[in-house]
Amino acid sequence: MRAFAYERPTDLGAAVALLVEHGPEARPLAGGTDLIIRLRDGSIQPRVVVDLKRIAELDGEIREGDDGLIIGARTTMTALAADERIRRDFQALAEAAAVVGSVQIRNRATLAGNICNASPAADTVPALLVYDARVVTAGPAGVRRIPIGAFFVRSGVTTLARGEIVTAIELPHPTVRQGSVHVRRTRRRGHDLASRPLLVSDETGLLADPTASDLAKMQRLEALFVDASPSPRSMRASPEYRLAMLHVLGLRAIGTTIERMVAGTARR
Ligand SMILES: Cc1cc2nc3c(=O)[nH]c(=O)nc-3n(C[C@H](O)[C@H](O)[C@H](O)COP(=O)(O)OP(=O)(O)OC[C@H]3O[C@@H](n4cnc5c(N)ncnc54)[C@H](O)[C@@H]3O)c2cc1C
Repeated sequence: MRAFAYERPTDLGAAVALLVEHGPEARPLAGGTDLIIRLRDGSIQPRVVVDLKRIAELDGEIREGDDGLIIGARTTMTALAADERIRRDFQALAEAAAVVGSVQIRNRATLAGNICNASPAADTVPALLVYDARVVTAGPAGVRRIPIGAFFVRSGVTTLARGEIVTAIELPHPTVRQGSVHVRRTRRRGHDLASRPLLVSDETGLLADPTASDLAKMQRLEALFVDASPSPRSMRASPEYRLAMLHVLGLRAIGTTIERMVAGTARR
């Protein structure tokens, strides 16, 4: 591991100034569950690590905003998965947070870190896409609100500008009745990563129709999954297996979602 300076600012302005000054040579540190691994294996070699944990303006609270919930940048997966409002209205996000890593990882890993890391396998991202989340940032040009769909450029790269820090993630309250679920396929033992997040919408309404047959839904899923392109170089599973699982899990997810809507577990 290359030596680096460790900075622990106590206000947001000082943190932004450090990130502006050092640019790509500086890295913010939240829970460290991604960053520390990458520092250790040398895949990143910043000169400065800026610890965000003492910054007064950044908190680990989940609070009510004007049109939904505001999740502070230091909110951990454990806190997300346990929050009653998240479990009730944003069920897929609670479920995603609950399966990240292990208990120890979830106690440190933040939602903000999960999206800023920009792994195509980040568990919480599919749910955030479905819920139209917004990423709130503070930087040299002030505050920005970035729709989550416009946050990712490619693996490991986001639209965060130099000096910008994610301060919160906003989740608008659902305005229509909805159901959601997070499903993923993992190995039985050990930690595994899910596949690439890609938002697809069924404009026909067929998938939400409880009277439609499994066969009709499977055919509709075929059409929706046409852009799925599992990596042939993955060490975890073949593209054929991944595509097959996509259909199995897709159908299963739709079944669960409809059950939840019918049971009224999602509020209007
Ligand atoms: C054993 C293990 C298992 C794991 N399993 C999973 C899993 O099942 N699913 C999954 O999705 N992930 C998994 N992860 C990855 C990791 O735990 C998550 O991505 C976690 O949410 C990262 O959050 P963090 O707070 O630890 O981020 P950090 O490691 O502190 O930071 C991650 C990146 O985001 C940047 N960053 C952090 N906070 C901010 C901010 N507020 N503003 C700007 N940039 C910021 C950092 O500079 C860094 O580049 C696993 C990791 C380990 C080590």
